[in-house]
Amino acid sequence: MHNIEKIKDNKKGFNVFLLVVISSFIYIFINILFYKVRSNIDFFEVLANGILLITTFYLIYITQKNSINKRSFYYYTSIGFAFLFFGLFVLTLNQLFFYSGSVVKITVKLLFVFGYSLLAIGVTKWVKFNENRHDELSLQANTDELTGILNRRSFTSFLEFEFNKANKISDPFSLIIIDIDFFKSVNDNHGHLIGDEVLKNLAAIMNKSFRSADKVCRWGGEEFAILLPSTSLENAKNVAEKIRKIVEKRPFSYDNTIINYTISLGISESLAADVGIDSVISRADEALYMAKNNNRNCVRAVRA
Ligand code: GH3
Ligand code: MG
Ligand code: MG
Repeated sequence: MHNIEKIKDNKKGFNVFLLVVISSFIYIFINILFYKVRSNIDFFEVLANGILLITTFYLIYITQKNSINKRSFYYYTSIGFAFLFFGLFVLTLNQLFFYSGSVVKITVKLLFVFGYSLLAIGVTKWVKFNENRHDELSLQANTDELTGILNRRSFTSFLEFEFNKANKISDPFSLIIIDIDFFKSVNDNHGHLIGDEVLKNLAAIMNKSFRSADKVCRWGGEEFAILLPSTSLENAKNVAEKIRKIVEKRPFSYDNTIINYTISLGISESLAADVGIDSVISRADEALYMAKNNNRNCVRAVRA
């Protein structure tokens, strides 16, 4: 399937490679009649230009062959290479045969100027295209599709980074794990799609409520996690209580349906004795479990 598409696409549009091949033959055919062979040929120059000629020809072939999506950079580089190819072509023939020197000089210079300019534009566009594609791919790889916040994988790498930093400069960070209370009944009563909207709503509330240095992620299912760098357990408790109240007081409405929901929050702080992030995570989990066992809709912290 992919190959068929590729072949179809290569047949479409403007083929610089074919253009170069055909016009090279026409060029030789027309001019060979008017050339006289030079009495002394500089073979070194002919060889050097010949190698450049083949290299440029190969580059035209490669840029043509590997372009499935014919974007603008593809045209710029292909036509740029074609100009360079013709410049070298004229130069090489001139080294083998007599021709009007000044005309050749001007022609070659013009072809090189256009060729390199087009190449420069094409390469710049190609670099920009790849940068954008890279940004797009890393965004996709690091964010949760439903809520648009960080996914667990990228959040964990922030956590690892903060853990190593905290250990070095003894500047603790805090971790909050949030779980929506009775979320199963939200799904059961209103449907899975509304459940998804509740998750998006909570993600949006959290994005607004935390500092830009804090990292908010979808931990999984209806659970979220927040990393608060340079934050003590006491301060994290205040922040957690604030967000708990916001969610409690602000019912979520969607399509004339009003959904009151609450969250339970578990907090831990990085400690000097911790050997890895797993200990910090398991204390936050333990704290969350305590909050769930205390009738939910509350904040609990585990110190050590
Ligand atoms: P508790 O207060 O003890 O946390 O109860 P709960 O119902 O929230 O917990 P439970 O673990 O029993 O149920 C979690 C539910 O979350 C079950 C699952 O279907 C739902 N869920 C997980 N991920 C998604 C999702 O992406 N979208 C929706 N709509 N529901 C989800
Ligand atoms: Mg859960
Ligand atoms: Mg839950």
